[in-house]
Amino acid sequence: MEKIKKIKIRAKDLCKSYGAGDNRVQALDHVSLEVFEGEMVAVLGNSGCGKSTFLNMLGGMDRFDSGSIKVSELELFGLDDKGLTDFRRKRIGFVFQSFNLIAELTARENVALTANPKDKGITDRMLELVGLRDRADCYPGQLSGGQQQRISIARAMAKEPELFLCDEPTGSLDSETGKTVLLCLEQLVREYGKTMVIVTHNQDISKIADRTIVMKNGKILEERVNQNILSVNEVEW
Ligand code: ADP
Repeated sequence: MEKIKKIKIRAKDLCKSYGAGDNRVQALDHVSLEVFEGEMVAVLGNSGCGKSTFLNMLGGMDRFDSGSIKVSELELFGLDDKGLTDFRRKRIGFVFQSFNLIAELTARENVALTANPKDKGITDRMLELVGLRDRADCYPGQLSGGQQQRISIARAMAKEPELFLCDEPTGSLDSETGKTVLLCLEQLVREYGKTMVIVTHNQDISKIADRTIVMKNGKILEERVNQNILSVNEVEW
């Protein structure tokens, strides 16, 4: 019997515009999407099509004009600043193209910033998970781009979020280093059952995702279910 899939994100008729008058841009135009628990969804599309805006709305980074987003039954529409901040802080693990690590803190200290204070060992476990326990005392400037991104994944993991939102996580990395980062992200979904939405220009990421959404002009143009999901190691990067 097929497992019943639980819905983690339910976005419906999402609209978001920026600017006014002649400068008004409809960044999201009635976008609807459901994402299942434990699913990896890749969001593709040309620059300016609304990918990052969509991800930002899912993560409570900004308000949308109309529509609805429910993340595990919490409705984001109408939440005040505190509500959105709480949601972001507690429930979302962000991974950005620019790693956003604090240069003056070591890798361990960066990860510890978000770690659950009740779980003393979590920082080191997360460093272990991304294969960088031995670099824990290095500062970001002493690490390669790929290593810095893996630290940022460990930091996102350390708060035990229910949802990972990644915006071009390999965008500033060469393909070999990008692969080490994708291996970490793959592990979060395939071994730890996390839910993940990845915005990317890299078409190859759709080979490892369960589903790919293609956006154009603020709308979802196409949705493809991957019938042959590959592991990161099976893809030529
Ligand atoms: P993508 O991530 O696909 O490159 P974005 O979501 O960043 O696209 O942008 C979608 C559209 O919204 C673009 O036309 C962009 O210029 C516009 N936009 C995005 N963020 C802002 C903002 N903060 N202010 C004004 N316009 C914005």
